[in-house]
Amino acid sequence: MNKVVGRFAPSPSGRMHLGNVFAALLAWLSVRSQNGEMVLRIEDLDPDRCRPEYAETLKEDLRWLGLDWDREQTPQSRRTAAYAEAFSSLEAQGLVYPCYCSRTELHAASAPHASDGRVLYAGTCRNLTPAQRAQKTKAPAWRLKVPDAVRTVEDRLQGPYRENLAQDCGDFIIRRADGVYAYQLAVVVDDAAAGVTEVVRGLDLLSSTPRQLYLYERLALHAPDFAHVPLLIATDGRRLSKRDRDMDLGLLRQEKHPEEILGLLARWAGLLEKPEPITARDLVAVFDWSHVPRTAIPVQP
Ligand code: GLU
Repeated sequence: MNKVVGRFAPSPSGRMHLGNVFAALLAWLSVRSQNGEMVLRIEDLDPDRCRPEYAETLKEDLRWLGLDWDREQTPQSRRTAAYAEAFSSLEAQGLVYPCYCSRTELHAASAPHASDGRVLYAGTCRNLTPAQRAQKTKAPAWRLKVPDAVRTVEDRLQGPYRENLAQDCGDFIIRRADGVYAYQLAVVVDDAAAGVTEVVRGLDLLSSTPRQLYLYERLALHAPDFAHVPLLIATDGRRLSKRDRDMDLGLLRQEKHPEEILGLLARWAGLLEKPEPITARDLVAVFDWSHVPRTAIPVQP
């Protein structure tokens, strides 16, 4: 059997909150329970949202919790050449086109997707002629053409998740108008480059996965296995976010020991009967995917 390789892929756009830590813990436990290798990758793709000091704090918080890693991959902000290469390969396949739609035009022309309110791209710029393109003055975003075909994620926790790329998603952006490569492209290029064999992350990213599978295919890269873990929600039903100061690690670290936080998370993950203090190392022995809930977990720290 080949070695299992998992990863942490945090975005340094703020302090981690408990939901991020929950996903990170499960990613780490899955890897450590299989004697695998853990990779850390700082996803600082978006220069508007990311800051180097947050990256340092993220690492410090992970270490404080005892969630270690074996190697660190080059941060996304320094991987532009690799993304450009993948972009060129897709372009050479005739799959990429420039899109000049403004935000307002996008909303006017598209129908919200029935099941989850996502906005479907109507394909406005797909068939512009070279002459029409030449008339445009603004810098375009770049979209990937998707086929009218279903892609299925065999998710370890959520079971099969299917999407028809054309009907449920539409042609999607792989490079923004300001030149920044999109998360969807970068994450595929980077996970493949690191030899990642399993991706454990929050359920909010399940709906991105069919797009990522399509990119793996077109780039002739081997796709990893996926497990999408439930989000933690506040007891009033809100999803936790980096804005919830009460759930962020900065505040929690002033009040609790790492073992207490891990005990709480492990209880929510179905790994402990009671939220008792425990180290990350000691949790490896009790880790079992079959105990982990599949749907949103209401929490009060
Ligand atoms: N960087 C993303 C985040 O922090 C995670 C991406 C992924 O796990 O694929 O939400």
